[in-house]
Amino acid sequence: MSETGLLGPRAVRRIAAELELRPTKQRGQNFVIDPNTVRRIVSLSGVTADDVVLEIGPGLGSLTLGLLDVARAVTVVEIEERLAQRLGQTVAERLGQDAADRLAVVTADAMRVMELPGEDPTAVVANLPYNVSVPVLLHLLARFPGWSKGLVMVQLEVADRLVAPPGNKTYGVPSAKMAWYASATRVGTVPPKVFWPVPNVESGLVRIERRDPPVTDVPREKVFAVIDAAFGQRRKMLRAALAPLIGSAADTARVIEAAGVDPQARGEVLDITQFAAIASAWVGSTP
Ligand code: SAM
Repeated sequence: MSETGLLGPRAVRRIAAELELRPTKQRGQNFVIDPNTVRRIVSLSGVTADDVVLEIGPGLGSLTLGLLDVARAVTVVEIEERLAQRLGQTVAERLGQDAADRLAVVTADAMRVMELPGEDPTAVVANLPYNVSVPVLLHLLARFPGWSKGLVMVQLEVADRLVAPPGNKTYGVPSAKMAWYASATRVGTVPPKVFWPVPNVESGLVRIERRDPPVTDVPREKVFAVIDAAFGQRRKMLRAALAPLIGSAADTARVIEAAGVDPQARGEVLDITQFAAIASAWVGSTP
């Protein structure tokens, strides 16, 4: 009997067996086996029939099917060839050829993908491979500036880091860089039992709404260099943590002060506008 619609546990295992797939941790392969979780993610994403969705790591297609139910088109980027190759067939079998025609499959590493076929995506929705979720997300934000909304599932701990405000104990490089591009909000948690294989941690759902970066006269790379240096030595005051980047302790303190920031503060209390101000003062101070 041929099944239609979203994938449940039996269908996931059957397709995995057919592909002789043994999910690996290295590739963050935990597949969603629960249609209700897929419906929840799609609903929270706010994706509509106007959207072209970019999905990273479609795996066996659990989320892809849910997205194709709603979106105008879906482009997926999957690193594992046999998964990428099988996806069109799964979609055609379960949703029909019309849906398969609205799907574009790219076999590539999402951390390095530089081009996408078809229309530019308007949204990103993904159950991200856990070990590379932050670099993938930052790459997609930098490389494909056209998408304005997103919903990603990541490890709960990573979700907390992405959404943390300055001063919070989990505020760090991912939070500050994320804040350059977008506002990020935790909109839910997902228990391990909806995945196969079952991971040993909970997952979090993060909604992303893109906004303009802070107004500054320096390129993003300079601001990110300041963020990396500030958190590279998290416990140090800014005047010490930024010295390897800027110069002598005295010069560094002068630059930080010129940006209107206390050189004795630590990076964990600065918002993205203050990081941008330091980067601008630093670049302005170099001959
Ligand atoms: N979306 C599917 C689901 O929800 O059931 C699978 C999600 S699973 C957490 C992550 C997927 O990302 C796997 O299919 C894995 O092969 C793929 N993947 C891992 N690293 C990747 C990378 N660097 N670029 C693209 N895909 C990757």
